[in-house]
Amino acid sequence: MPSTPPAQPGQSFAEIDTPALVLDLDAFERNLVAMAAFSEARGIRLRPHAKTHKSPEIALRQIAHGAVGQCCQKVSEAEILVAGGVGDVLVTNEIASPAKLDRLAILARTARIGLCVDHPDGVRDAAEAAARHDVVLDVMVEIDVGGRRCGVAPGEAAVRVAEAVARSNTLRFAGLQAYHGAAQHMRSIDERSEAIERAGLAARNTAERLAQAGLECPIISGAGTGTYELETQSGIWNELQCGSYIFMDADYARNRQADGSPFRSFEHALFILAGVMSKPVPDRAILDAGHKSAAVDSGMPVPFQREGAIYTKPSDEHGILTGDPIALPHRGDRVLLIPGHCDPTVNLHDWYVCVRGLHGPDAHVEAVWPVAARGAVT
Ligand code: PLP
Ligand code: MN
Repeated sequence: MPSTPPAQPGQSFAEIDTPALVLDLDAFERNLVAMAAFSEARGIRLRPHAKTHKSPEIALRQIAHGAVGQCCQKVSEAEILVAGGVGDVLVTNEIASPAKLDRLAILARTARIGLCVDHPDGVRDAAEAAARHDVVLDVMVEIDVGGRRCGVAPGEAAVRVAEAVARSNTLRFAGLQAYHGAAQHMRSIDERSEAIERAGLAARNTAERLAQAGLECPIISGAGTGTYELETQSGIWNELQCGSYIFMDADYARNRQADGSPFRSFEHALFILAGVMSKPVPDRAILDAGHKSAAVDSGMPVPFQREGAIYTKPSDEHGILTGDPIALPHRGDRVLLIPGHCDPTVNLHDWYVCVRGLHGPDAHVEAVWPVAARGAVT
């Protein structure tokens, strides 16, 4: 059973209980529009990644702004998206379990469903599952474009896998999955450009060999929030899979443009609202948000507009704010924290508390949305 929501629609910002996952609706909507406008102006498909938000509410808003569908990482996420009304879902992952493939094939009765493969055995297993349920699955052949995670080698090896897909009656060859995860958080634009240039060469070379083998490659999909402009400029990719842009976490804010400035396209829209439980000494305020409220794999949460206060040493249910005593809040005060890494932070919470006018005098709760796919990891 999900927990009691920390707020109800109509309540004022001051009435939100802590800790809470707060969505700044105004900034979120500007981020939605900014990415939709970017992709529309350049004629590139946008298939945002639901691993970030785990929410059909957000997915449907992205689709209303022109997205072609959703990506997700897990079959259980796909189930929740389809149940929530999303009609086109690509699992950007390899699946080696027949039970999961069965669940995915069942979803394909009501929605367009795709998955990635990087080995002929994956093709065989997906084809058999689709046949068991009398459906057709879209298949993207994932190539390793430098991320050194999943993915068959670009070139001939990838063509062999695509040919196996094309031979199957129950699979449709949908294109290439060419996502460079390791490039997303490279800090300088030069590093990111070099990585995506190499990835593009690998993707283009593979697409050319597919054409020589008589296989049409309709989609080359990839890109995240850190590099999407580069994939778009290359002219090689025709689908973007960005996820974090809707929330913008503190780690992405550390990426730099050519002039050394932070990249400005998106605003911080996701926060952890933490309460001060105790202030035992002037230079230490204890927050009610620790590891159970904020993922710290990409760095600590950053206090929002509170110069001189530093979040440090989280334990399970406590976080410590230290620094200049003048900058520190008092017992009963509340602090907005920018998550270090948005995706795993979202997965720690049951509810989005959606606030209108967050940073103004009339801040109030407009909606409370479930993090519907929280814990959906199968
Ligand atoms: N596509 C794939 C396959 C991913 O694994 C991810 C994130 O890890 C994304 C897209 C979205 O990336 P981001 O959240 O950095 O925009
Ligand atoms: Mn992430």
